[in-house]
Amino acid sequence: MGKDTTIMANKANGRRLFERMVIRQIQRTTWLIDARRLHALVYAPSMKTDVLVVGAGPVGLEVAATASAKGLDVQVVDAGVIGQTIMSQFPTATRFFSSPERLEIAGIAMPCSAEEKPTGEDYLGYLRSVVQTLHLPVRTFERVVDCRGQAGSFEVDTQNQVGLIRTWRTKHVVLATGGTQHSRTLGVQGEDLGHVSRLLGNPHRFFGRNVLVVGGRNSAIESALRIFRAGGKAWLSYRGEAIHERVKYWLRPEVEALMEEGKIVNRLSTLVQRITPECVDLLHTSTGKVESLVVDDVLLQLGFEQDSSILKRFGVDVDSDTQQPTFNRDTMESNVPGVYVAGTATAGTQKRFKVYIETSHVHASRIVAAMTGNDVPQTPQPRLLPES
Ligand SMILES: Cc1cc2nc3c(=O)[nH]c(=O)nc-3n(C[C@H](O)[C@H](O)[C@H](O)COP(=O)(O)OP(=O)(O)OC[C@H]3O[C@@H](n4cnc5c(N)ncnc54)[C@H](O)[C@@H]3O)c2cc1C
Repeated sequence: MGKDTTIMANKANGRRLFERMVIRQIQRTTWLIDARRLHALVYAPSMKTDVLVVGAGPVGLEVAATASAKGLDVQVVDAGVIGQTIMSQFPTATRFFSSPERLEIAGIAMPCSAEEKPTGEDYLGYLRSVVQTLHLPVRTFERVVDCRGQAGSFEVDTQNQVGLIRTWRTKHVVLATGGTQHSRTLGVQGEDLGHVSRLLGNPHRFFGRNVLVVGGRNSAIESALRIFRAGGKAWLSYRGEAIHERVKYWLRPEVEALMEEGKIVNRLSTLVQRITPECVDLLHTSTGKVESLVVDDVLLQLGFEQDSSILKRFGVDVDSDTQQPTFNRDTMESNVPGVYVAGTATAGTQKRFKVYIETSHVHASRIVAAMTGNDVPQTPQPRLLPES
């Protein structure tokens, strides 16, 4: 990393420390002024940078690291934390299916205990260390809410948790905002009841409970197995006659064996018709019969959809069906000059996952080459994982 980049990163960190120090100091002496007004007094309402990266997921951070290494002044903002998607969507202690070297960013090695694939928690620790090691200027809990201008002079508004607005002036914008914002729904009555959830979270909560897991792909199968191991009784409802063909090869034999033994209760070839506080009505598609199942919890594991509203706000065209943005694959520049897309944000709602961390490393070098006017590096086509 260049000396200039380090100085820029230190300046941004210095500014943040300064803001906090001033707030603390004033609070000590003038306890009558409320904290929110104090914050507003010292919160910098406008900031400048060459490149504003929206999204501090792995791909946004990789773009920032690559741009920074090329001497560009870069800032990253995120509506949540670093790796927000991984923190919120990975169940506790879930391992990546990618091996660590394929998840590494900016050439920083990821140590892994017992040479295993990393868990979500391991990876979040790794992302923190990348940010610290490279002094990447990341502002968490700063959501992009609006934008104006054109290539070379954009104004981007962000809003923090207490509602304060900051305007960023920037030459380029990179939208690395992810593609899995919303959980898919079934579209049946009762989906919003209190005992229906969409994320496994910590499986401990299902101890001693009857849980209907809906879905037949990796997340559903992993959830059913973990609920069983956490002392819950899992019922698996899926519309297919068998679990999905791309279920991870290390999960399939185990779940099939447990279903055969009745330890995970097989409700393949069924469709959820409605959910009530008392039961779930399942239609058996082969017989046409409806079964009312009494369970304590319902866990919908149906995959995710992209929320493309932020892309649209920047004027990026998105496909009305898939939500995929329009962009040039060589440069990752969208139909709006100066606005680039990266990572899962480029793929819209994915039926089969083809764009993920492993396959998105190339985005960073393409974007930075386009911004700096260098040749786009020739990179081999990343491999697709069979279980993705
Ligand atoms: C259980 C599970 C297992 C997985 N295993 C693998 C694997 O083995 N290998 C692999 O390569 N991938 C895997 N993935 C997928 C991987 O997590 C995603 O591909 C990756 O997180 C995408 O990175 P990203 O940077 O493109 O987007 P994200 O990580 O989704 O980051 C987007 C960021 O943008 C922020 N953001 C969104 N809107 C705004 C806004 N308006 N203003 C500011 N910030 C905003 C969000 O808060 C978020 O932090 C897995 C996912 C799951 C759920």
